[in-house]
Amino acid sequence: MKVAVLPGDGIGQEITTQAVAVLKALGLSLETEEAPVGGAAYDSAGDPLPQATLNLARDADAILFGAVGGWQYDKLPRAKRPEQAVLGLRRELGLFANLRPSIVYPELVNASTLKPEVVSGLDLLILRELTGDIYFGQPRGVRTVESGPFAGQREGFDTMRYAEGEISRIMHVGFAAARKRGKRLCSVDKANVLETMQLWKDVAAAVALEYPDVEYSSMYVDNAAMQLVRNPKQFDVIVTGNMFGDILSDEASMLTGSIGMQPSASLNASKKGLYEPIHGSAPDIAGKDLANPLATILSAAMMLRYSFDDEASAGRIEAAVRKVLAQGYRTADIFEPGTNKVGTRQMGEAVLKALA
Ligand code: NAD
Repeated sequence: MKVAVLPGDGIGQEITTQAVAVLKALGLSLETEEAPVGGAAYDSAGDPLPQATLNLARDADAILFGAVGGWQYDKLPRAKRPEQAVLGLRRELGLFANLRPSIVYPELVNASTLKPEVVSGLDLLILRELTGDIYFGQPRGVRTVESGPFAGQREGFDTMRYAEGEISRIMHVGFAAARKRGKRLCSVDKANVLETMQLWKDVAAAVALEYPDVEYSSMYVDNAAMQLVRNPKQFDVIVTGNMFGDILSDEASMLTGSIGMQPSASLNASKKGLYEPIHGSAPDIAGKDLANPLATILSAAMMLRYSFDDEASAGRIEAAVRKVLAQGYRTADIFEPGTNKVGTRQMGEAVLKALA
């Protein structure tokens, strides 16, 4: 198993170092190789995604990604900005399925802004299609209105589109994931208003027939947004399109209240994946040994589960994370009085000890 490690900027190096140590401690035959990405790559090679980094990512079976970005790059032309590296990797590797679990650990239940009884025990997976929909559909642009009450004015327009194959492949990823979890899948659409979404719903229902062991349902996106804060525990796996997923996955991530705890995966058709915490490069705390490495460590667990089919090792990492939380270890972002405040390195070491 070959893993490309792309630490990136800000806290990226600190958090990926801890996750790599955890991966290595499992005793698997796993090789890692590091390359610069984002602002770090712009500084060293004049490009946020240099060819050498892209080649490494292409050759690897999976990618562990830290985070990119920083205020010093904000004035660069768009093509040179660190964030282009993430978009470039998604495009070049065909990463169409974005998986975002939201888990509320019993010790951190108070970090949520929702009542403990609403979120305690939450274990939800949002699956967002990442390469289609209105974000990429053509035509798009700004044109002049020809007639009617707004004639002569500018109008903006975009195109929502999905091909059947794009819908069915994300559904298959969703049903396969549901099989490994609570065996329930809810497809979220807006079929009552949008043609594209009626097709989405029809294809989802057809794919569902191939997975009789998974309970299938569908819901309109406006209702789903409401249900996520009313009773999020009704969901196991939610599968949705790019735009609705963008919004719902951020909403779901905040149910847990702790950004430093949340992993993610982006997969392609051959199960190659890019695994990264959902948070950014946190320049305000970079280099201070303050960052929470658990989201990145949990991303490494997802890598073992989804790219390497190693459920046992993924489970070992997740159990170790639960154990350190139960033991009271907390980085500053999840600290509460009465618990043991530690830095990035100490948190990583605590996970290694719990693994052993
Ligand atoms: P951010 O997620 O970096 O930080 C938001 C807040 O959360 C900050 O106060 C930060 O200190 C804190 N935080 C984030 N991760 C943490 C961790 N692991 N432990 C403890 N605290 C943590 O978001 P931002 O400040 O809006 O963005 C900073 C930079 O990151 C920007 O350049 C942005 O473009 C970039 N960004 C990159 C990615 C990515 O690489 N995928 C994602 C989001 C933002």
